[in-house]
Amino acid sequence: MPVTAVIGGQWGDEGKGKIVDALSSGADIVARYQGGANAGHTVIINDKTFILHQIPSGILHENVRCVLGHGMVIDPVSLIDEIDSLHGNGIDTTGRILLSTHAHIVTPLHRAMDRATGQVIGTTGRGIGLAYSDKARRLGIRAVDLIDAGSLGDYIRKRLKLAIDQGEITEAELPALKDDIEQFLHASNKLLEYLADTVSVMLEAIARGDSILIEGAQGTLLDVDLGTYPYVTSSSASASGIAAGLGIPARSVDRLIGIFKAYATRVGNGPFPTELEDRTGEQLQNSGAEFGATTGRPRRCGWFDAVAARYACRTNGIDEIYLSKLDVLEKFDSLKICTGYRWNGEMINDFSAAVHKLDKMEPIYEELPGWGAGVSQLTDANDLPDQAKTYIARIEELLEVPVSHVSIGAERSQILKR
Ligand code: GDP
Repeated sequence: MPVTAVIGGQWGDEGKGKIVDALSSGADIVARYQGGANAGHTVIINDKTFILHQIPSGILHENVRCVLGHGMVIDPVSLIDEIDSLHGNGIDTTGRILLSTHAHIVTPLHRAMDRATGQVIGTTGRGIGLAYSDKARRLGIRAVDLIDAGSLGDYIRKRLKLAIDQGEITEAELPALKDDIEQFLHASNKLLEYLADTVSVMLEAIARGDSILIEGAQGTLLDVDLGTYPYVTSSSASASGIAAGLGIPARSVDRLIGIFKAYATRVGNGPFPTELEDRTGEQLQNSGAEFGATTGRPRRCGWFDAVAARYACRTNGIDEIYLSKLDVLEKFDSLKICTGYRWNGEMINDFSAAVHKLDKMEPIYEELPGWGAGVSQLTDANDLPDQAKTYIARIEELLEVPVSHVSIGAERSQILKR
């Protein structure tokens, strides 16, 4: 199928990076439509670890062109660092990174404002939310505005004055900002060679029938509209953001893959009904190496929440599921899946009815047997232990979507087709 999209089905960190990387090998284009340097994909190839924040991991395949769509917010300094690091690892990016002229830009001012205000909802402090906020307030700048250095300088001066007048930045930030702005202007100039009319690139590629992979960052439950507001990211991380963020028709996506972790994790604050604040949660955290690629923050861990996952399947229109990190569960004798919530003596099965009062939901669990060690050595899904097959089948049943693949380790090769 020519246009495939990969979406995180939970609170992000589902292991999308590796799966997108595996799917990218046959693609002509890999595109991102939202978010910015707050995402972090880790891809391990032959013992080399690549951490990518803004560039789709498709860049690791030499014939793939990567599109950074206009729904993203781009941090020039961080993007140039990423490009330099790819070059340092022998990856040729010539003509392969296409940055939308209309993508909004994260400036050092956004980062400074984020440092001052971001703590409440536990943002990554990278200015992403503030850049989206400026976009909505019509105060933002876009990649195309980086071309004219004089106007860019004027913009920074005016925005800084407004930030000081409105108390968004304190005087104490100013000395550090001066250096950051210098670095920003330098990086912005280096980015110019990557600017492109990515809407035309995408529309022409679709018309030609090119193989296109669209990659979501974060996850559905962090989507600004569909997620657990206000504990969400500032963009449309679900499939709903694809059309707006890339400038392509909503009907363009032929196949929608949802990535779900075989358990649940969440970074930062916000309600998380199946969270385990005990030894089991700690075991999940350690076995799954649940520490953020971007921030190093430990992730909160819990059992698979089928109520939330079913909502993600239905709202995105997910056709098939990649279930990741199945190997992490081998440490447990028995496992739990949340099949409903209890609230005020009532049973709630629809996440959409619970999402605004999620902190009050008491999870109702179904217990299933574990399967012991050895799963990560398998090369054929038919050889999965019966208990693992039962676990997967129950997820399929609850979500009403087939699990087409399972991932059993961090290596590129450790994906089994069912
Ligand atoms: P993303 O934000 O959804 O792309 O998630 P990441 O790419 O940050 O993946 C989270 C982590 O899980 C990375 O360190 C991956 O190498 C690792 N990972 C991915 N799939 C698996 C898996 O099936 N098993 C294990 N044990 N680790 C995995």
